[in-house]
Amino acid sequence: MIDLAIRNVRVLDGSGGPAFDADVEIDAGRITTVGRAAAATREIDGHGACLAPGFIDTHAHDDGAFFRYPGMEFKLAQGVTTVVSGNCGFSAIPADPSGDAVAASGGILAGLSGEFTDLRGYFTAALAHKPAINNLMLVGHNTVRTLTMGMEQRGPTAAELATMRGHVERAMEQGACGFSTGLIYRPGRWSGTEEVIELAKAVKPFGGLYTTHMRNEGDRLLDAVEESLRIGVESGVHLHISHHKSAGRANWGKVKDSLARVDAALATGQAVTLDVYPYTAGSGRMIEYFNLERIDRTLAEVIRIASCAAFREYEGRMLVDIAAERGIDVTELVRQILTAPLGDRTICIHFIIDEADIETNLRHRDMMVGSDGIPDLRGRPHPRLFGTFPRVLARYVRERGVLGLEEAVRRMTSLSAETFGLLERGRVKEGYWADLVLFDPAAVVDTATYDDPKREPDGIQLVVVNGQVAYDRGQHTGVGAGKMLRYRRSAFE
Ligand SMILES: [Zn+2]
Repeated sequence: MIDLAIRNVRVLDGSGGPAFDADVEIDAGRITTVGRAAAATREIDGHGACLAPGFIDTHAHDDGAFFRYPGMEFKLAQGVTTVVSGNCGFSAIPADPSGDAVAASGGILAGLSGEFTDLRGYFTAALAHKPAINNLMLVGHNTVRTLTMGMEQRGPTAAELATMRGHVERAMEQGACGFSTGLIYRPGRWSGTEEVIELAKAVKPFGGLYTTHMRNEGDRLLDAVEESLRIGVESGVHLHISHHKSAGRANWGKVKDSLARVDAALATGQAVTLDVYPYTAGSGRMIEYFNLERIDRTLAEVIRIASCAAFREYEGRMLVDIAAERGIDVTELVRQILTAPLGDRTICIHFIIDEADIETNLRHRDMMVGSDGIPDLRGRPHPRLFGTFPRVLARYVRERGVLGLEEAVRRMTSLSAETFGLLERGRVKEGYWADLVLFDPAAVVDTATYDDPKREPDGIQLVVVNGQVAYDRGQHTGVGAGKMLRYRRSAFE
């Protein structure tokens, strides 16, 4: 008898084609039939629900979460079965176990532990925690650079460049899907375009990607897009622009120009894709956004605190409200937070994005969905950690009709799987791995808010990871069936 049959469902197979009715049969981790299922050990009647490939979060910072929260409840409950970690230039590997892994990863990868130095070691250590979902990794420029040359504010010597290149190649050999940068962050901001081109070239023989948190997402967005496209052209590597946005009120609407430039590149045959999160606020490590010599008041005024070890009482509050209550200037408050002990690890949420720009982004056919969630459950994280994928389906598909259901599912599944080199995933198709989500298209909705962000969505009925039921009507089953995936290769065993 086969393991699992999901009967009478509307299948959204991930291709973007029209939904159809079928039974789906799962055995030994894979989809064995899409059509009429035989009798199974477990039978599920999916009448009225849609069955889609498990969602793929192309923009995750979950490197450490696989150690800290191996149940990955915040992703699994959304229907996410695979994440791409190591984004924005910060990755768990390469690592120096004698150093401070959290500091080397920019403070956003809390939870890292273990004696690993490379991707193979990371995979082994992560699998020991029996993760609930799959993970694919990028190797991060900031991490590689910090390991090689610390926080030096200069370009690398030839020897340092060769060392960095070696780190990137080693990660690619072991199954990383590409090289990521965060050129707005330290130490990436001190690197020139040529350095990045040279390191992206190391990815080319493996066919992987170059993903980037661009050098600028505000006043100089279009310059940053030019730089990214140039890196893609000169390295000969597929360019993926992370969390595409135009930040700051003065720049709202510029995503149209940016996408027009991407379209022009696509027309020349360049490989370019993007992702976006469906919220008007960003989030990150607060110290990265401020120059303490000249604190940006406009930015300070749109910030709320997510987590702050220095001042727990500030979590969940806007800086302007705290400053008013304390009778100090908001810029002085920024200074106090960032210069306090542990203050440099404060995670903030900044309301910098225009709602209309999210819709413009989601209309683009090469736009995937990435949560950019920072998996720190202390304080009040950005709600995107718990809500991203249901929010696209509820708000942008069902309520606003920005894109159709089949197309939204394609952008969250097959497009991501093909771009990021996930073998036999991202479709409801015979022979493919059974990563699946069963949901009610009329009811699916994110419930996480800025005030109450740690809430799992409604309407996600069942999530299957590698053929095993991982989430069942609100319950996390704890089967720990997640795998560490390798670019265009079988999973790491
Ligand atoms: Zn980023």
